[in-house]
Amino acid sequence: MIKVESDVSELVLPRAQILNGTNNAWESVIDVEEEISSKTAPKDVVAVAKKAFATGKTKPLKFRREQLKGLLKFLEECKEDIEKALYQDLRKHKQECHLCEIEIIANDLRHTLMELKEWAKPEKPEKRLVNVLDGVYRYKDPYGVVLIIGAWNYPLLLTLGPLVGALAAGNVVILKPSELSPATSSMTAKILTKYLDKECFQVFLGGVEETTELLKEKFDYIFFTGSTTVGRIVYQAAAKYLTPTTLELGGKSPSYIDESADIKKTAKRILWGKLINSGQTCVAPDYILCTKTVQEKFLQHAKLIITEFYGPDPTKSPDLCKIITERHFKRLVDFINPENVAIGGKFDISERVISPTVLINVSPEDPVMKEEIFGPILPIINVRNAEEAINFINEREKPLALYVFAKNKSVQKLFLNHTSSGGATVNDTVTHLITENLPFGGVGESGMGSYHGKEGFDTFSHQKSVLVKDFANLTELSLAMRYPPYSNTKIKLLNFVLKKRSGISFRILKNCFIFSLGVACAYGVQYICSQLNESE
Ligand code: NAD
Repeated sequence: MIKVESDVSELVLPRAQILNGTNNAWESVIDVEEEISSKTAPKDVVAVAKKAFATGKTKPLKFRREQLKGLLKFLEECKEDIEKALYQDLRKHKQECHLCEIEIIANDLRHTLMELKEWAKPEKPEKRLVNVLDGVYRYKDPYGVVLIIGAWNYPLLLTLGPLVGALAAGNVVILKPSELSPATSSMTAKILTKYLDKECFQVFLGGVEETTELLKEKFDYIFFTGSTTVGRIVYQAAAKYLTPTTLELGGKSPSYIDESADIKKTAKRILWGKLINSGQTCVAPDYILCTKTVQEKFLQHAKLIITEFYGPDPTKSPDLCKIITERHFKRLVDFINPENVAIGGKFDISERVISPTVLINVSPEDPVMKEEIFGPILPIINVRNAEEAINFINEREKPLALYVFAKNKSVQKLFLNHTSSGGATVNDTVTHLITENLPFGGVGESGMGSYHGKEGFDTFSHQKSVLVKDFANLTELSLAMRYPPYSNTKIKLLNFVLKKRSGISFRILKNCFIFSLGVACAYGVQYICSQLNESE
């Protein structure tokens, strides 16, 4: 059983009063004591899911649409429950709840509902001469029973985001949210389950112990969001059954600021990306690379911007989230070496809030540069130029995100062409994640696989290659050359038919043929009509 943190009740009331100006907030927070660990054994949860998938009820598009609409309805009708849960877990301001969680999922849902029919129908890829008479298709099959394991930092987005693709693709889902965001996890188990088919969607609550047991079961797909360390554990568990897996992991995402950048706007955009959710964001800019000259300008603007965002004492701001647990808080505070503090450095353990902190004269050997920070602490590493920054990045693990701030287009291209990262944004932070039609995922230690929009649908679909032949005599004749007895003539014929050719595609040739046939028919009809007229 997971122990609920004893300090939750002590901390919620005072800041709730600041935010809401009432005493009612305490009454409205969700009681997590009862729900934090699932009572049903993992094997029973999986058995229900397998049985549900075997009925085939998730396959029709109508059913999938109903599930997606149910999810959308939950987001629309339960906004308040969601806001309260996110507030209890992270003290997320309503604006961040909407901007960074609810609306991203809702828009992904709307997009998926609009496109589902198109995405789900078998694709007809280009044919070669050898398959002229055949049907060539890519079918999109659901995998079956999908396990989604989520992280605590965006507890709604990181569980319901992948759920959209999994349901759209016709799978049955078991969701394992994080035990470190108990209010949102418990709310999902209690409320969302009422909006979806109860056999095709189950929430399994628990921590390390329960998840370890759950991972002993056989799934058809595992989608994991979390740390690289736990990602390895999940991947090993998946290997036992050769279960296909997506790993959405983290890492240290660098930001390079070029001398050509507009430093004031750069500072604003970097600080926003760093400080939403108090830096507990997988794609938050982890550290800055820049020259000493750029650093001086950045610090001047950053001081003013932080005050503009959060007031003179950010630890008192209702817009800054809290750090998820005391353990995470202490880990972050240990990174703050007073000798390196250029801005901030204040913290309040009773509220688990750390004021935005910028560190200078940081060495790559300092603890803050040795692991993903995941908090409102921003170290600056000095480099002499863009090439040195690129070398610095390439000597380390591939990051989840990379940010380049430069007006100079050749500097932008230099980074995009000479570094590898899950994604990248030029002159902004974080927003590539919410850009429609861009897949989101990591590379190397920051993860494998991706999702969002069509990419999410494809991730949870097995692409089945299908070739359909008929029994026509012409088809049989075209196959004759492959059967024994073999001969040189058959080899030549086969080579001719199988040879990959560049130039006009078969589809264009076919369309030209159909068009020509249409024109010929029109002329034919016209000719016949004129003959008939003449004969009259
Ligand atoms: P975590 O790896 O500690 O936990 C993630 C999930 O794994 C939780 O549900 C947890 O219960 C489970 N888990 C933890 N230990 C386990 C174990 N030993 N065996 C089986 N399951 C276990 O990660 P976290 O602290 O929740 O999240 C922070 C990390 O996630 C950061 O590294 C961050 O960058 C990363 N992250 C990545 C993305 C992304 O989309 N790429 C998004 C958010 C967070």
